[in-house]
Amino acid sequence: METFKDLDLASPIAKALLAMKFEKPTPIQAAGIPVALAGKDLIGVAQTGTGKTATFCIPILTRLLKNPGKTALILAPTRELAAQIEELWRGLTKYTPDHRAVVLIGGVAMQPQVRALRAHARVLIATPGRLVDHLQRGTVSLNSIEVLVLDEADRMLDMGFAPQLNQIMKYVPKQRQTLLFSATWSKEMDNLASKYLHHPEKVAVGNISRAAPKIAQFAIQTTQQAKNDLLLEELNARQGSVLVFARTQSRTDRVAKFLMSYGMLVNRIHGGRTQAQRTSALAAFKSGGVRVLIATDIAARGIDVADIAHVINFDLPQVAEDYIHRIGRTARAGTSGEALSFVAADERGQWRDIVQLLKKTGSSLPEMKGVTSSQLNPAEMSGGADASDRAAAKAGRPQRPSRGPRSERPNHRQDDRRDSRSEPRAEGPRTPRAPVASSGVKIVLGGGPRL
Ligand code: ADP
Ligand code: MG
Repeated sequence: METFKDLDLASPIAKALLAMKFEKPTPIQAAGIPVALAGKDLIGVAQTGTGKTATFCIPILTRLLKNPGKTALILAPTRELAAQIEELWRGLTKYTPDHRAVVLIGGVAMQPQVRALRAHARVLIATPGRLVDHLQRGTVSLNSIEVLVLDEADRMLDMGFAPQLNQIMKYVPKQRQTLLFSATWSKEMDNLASKYLHHPEKVAVGNISRAAPKIAQFAIQTTQQAKNDLLLEELNARQGSVLVFARTQSRTDRVAKFLMSYGMLVNRIHGGRTQAQRTSALAAFKSGGVRVLIATDIAARGIDVADIAHVINFDLPQVAEDYIHRIGRTARAGTSGEALSFVAADERGQWRDIVQLLKKTGSSLPEMKGVTSSQLNPAEMSGGADASDRAAAKAGRPQRPSRGPRSERPNHRQDDRRDSRSEPRAEGPRTPRAPVASSGVKIVLGGGPRL
């Protein structure tokens, strides 16, 4: 399939694709759309930014145009993703505007959603928690659902939505087409698929965990104390939009506060902010009004902003796979992007995991600023103590690559996962692990390429 024309789509869909400037299908679209159009159950595995949304929306609209009494249900893990799916749906239904979608997400009032549901939607786009709320109140019926989509299924499981999915399935007709999409594949995903799909065809595009090839990746060894100053400097050295990842909600807040104290215009999104705050932060970022957005992993998942020029990992992710999700925010749909990671001494274990994952998946490796590529060898990246870093910095000499034995990594993994990944829960009081006050100490190894 070379162009969308080869698919013989209904003319309002073909016209809408033209209006959206979608000419050539992406690989997952080329492989997945024909399967879904044939009415089969589909598993689509492809990294973020490869066009999975249209892979299910085009076949859904095709089917709904043929079956006027039927509807579709799309489940997505976060509010932002649900909103983005609706945006694509709106583009796709430009010439069939009666095929409206209703978005059912948490964090906003129920009543407007109830009213919208009465006005006959053809597609429900929902987060699992809010949909269960509606089901329990009897404000929504799923009897006419003919196509069910589980989008970002890996993330939905990660976020603990398995019980809600189970409950929802009791209300969805057994006779249906089910399409499941995921950026990663695992045993849990296999179980999920065998539970809810019927003789599915699996389409996996590329190496499922490979970082998008067009992203230039860099890393800087630093300390927790120096991160704020370093971020300020790196932001000043850049043009274009920058998405900054911090480990927790409270760190997100503190980084934002620090930058604002230097007069920088920044916004932040995380699970502890209200839907209205998140929506306006995202809108300001999208419009270019505010070029720096600071986010936790879960809040940033799937954010679709056309040209994020840079991703900066202020904190490394706790889970190596999230590195790939994060940097996938740039270089969407084939444009080029840059990703920079700050690696503090106490993050070297995480960094080693990331490098190992990148190697294992045949992805390109980040360039360590000012350090030769052999030092990216995970074994050699894992040693060294914070104190020696600081001493080296104070003495004004470039930090030597660390070769000592691997220092014990503090076990805050559990805690972090709860804090940064479990969006549905409210933020509790937290004490920071490391002070992030500016110390004026900066360890940027000399001689590396400037971004
Ligand atoms: P995924 O769900 O795989 O992360 P998306 O569906 O969000 O990816 O698509 C990523 C971006 O690529 C979106 O901005 C989307 O509008 C754009 N896109 C998708 N398919 C095409 C296409 N065939 N041609 C041009 N742009 C596309
Ligand atoms: Mg998606």
